[in-house]
Amino acid sequence: MEQQHNWTLEDILALYRKPLLELVYEAATVHRQHHDPNEVQISSLLSIKTGGCPEDCGYCPQAARYHTDVEEHGLMSVEQVATAANRARMLGASRLCMGAAWRNVRDDEDFDRVIELVQTVNEMDMEVCATLGMVTEKQAQKLAAAGLYAYNHNLDTSEEYYKEIIPTRGYEDRLKTLENVRKAKLTVCSGGIIGMGESVEDRCQMLLTLSQLDPQPESVPINALVAVEGTPMEEQEPVPIWDMVRMVATARIVMPGSTVRLSAGRTQMTREGQALCFMAGAGSIFAGDKLLTTPNPDADEDLQMFELLGLKPTAPFAKHPKPQPQPVPEEDSTEKPKWSRPGHRIPANVEYTKRGKAKRKITS
Ligand code: SF4
Repeated sequence: MEQQHNWTLEDILALYRKPLLELVYEAATVHRQHHDPNEVQISSLLSIKTGGCPEDCGYCPQAARYHTDVEEHGLMSVEQVATAANRARMLGASRLCMGAAWRNVRDDEDFDRVIELVQTVNEMDMEVCATLGMVTEKQAQKLAAAGLYAYNHNLDTSEEYYKEIIPTRGYEDRLKTLENVRKAKLTVCSGGIIGMGESVEDRCQMLLTLSQLDPQPESVPINALVAVEGTPMEEQEPVPIWDMVRMVATARIVMPGSTVRLSAGRTQMTREGQALCFMAGAGSIFAGDKLLTTPNPDADEDLQMFELLGLKPTAPFAKHPKPQPQPVPEEDSTEKPKWSRPGHRIPANVEYTKRGKAKRKITS
């Protein structure tokens, strides 16, 4: 399918600001040309290593420096992940996304275990996606050889607004990781979060950057911020459903072949709101009672919603063939990746870091 890479920010803003029903109609028309509108993929997001992350993403309860109720746990075993994958499959999931709260992948025993996890879930005939932080090309190649289907690394927001959220790494690292993933011939999953205080221009700029990737990402998750107590964004207002609909619809028109994923924040959405998102081109939800660490609708509720709307869960490998595992190269990466550490100050992040320390002192 031919992709359009020459969108301008003005084009995308004009789409986003169209009268809502006209925007939804246009997006629904594009959706029908490229996807089965009665199919929605059920994906499951599993936190295989939780909390204690050295990064300081302002929205994230897993950052070690904030004080949240997230229970930390080390890397899950192969048995634990196989059990979780099996349960997800029984609930209709065709894709398992494994998330680890790491800054970047290291060539150590944990990574060896992740390779085993990928091999195990691939053998279960599910699409395996991983989100492990920044990754080098060699590491991405190892994951691909193990049978990984997709690698997720979100741009989160526009390059400009990124500096207001995260001081521990730069936007160019995000883009470099996506390039490494692409070179390893993995499919790319990359999207963002709305509701972090960004402007409409930031949202559209992020979609513009994604649309300029060549090829465009196969998968584009759109998350609504879940404001977690203890993080610098705890007081952000919930995202209005109309913003989610606009974002899904605009992403759908700008990247017609991508699967737009209705991701975090569904607990705040009514069924009617979600139905409008499906109409506007959302082709996937994440199921299960947790999305990494934040709440998500109950799986039964989702199955009832599917029945009500006449939706069918998408079969695995409907869009791309199943990766055939190859021998995983043994040698570690000799690359010395130069991930950036900008280190600028974001007052809210600094304040919540101090609060976290104070609270930890009291409880210890
Ligand atoms: S979003 Fe990822 S990288 Fe950022 S703090 Fe959370 S776990 Fe770490």
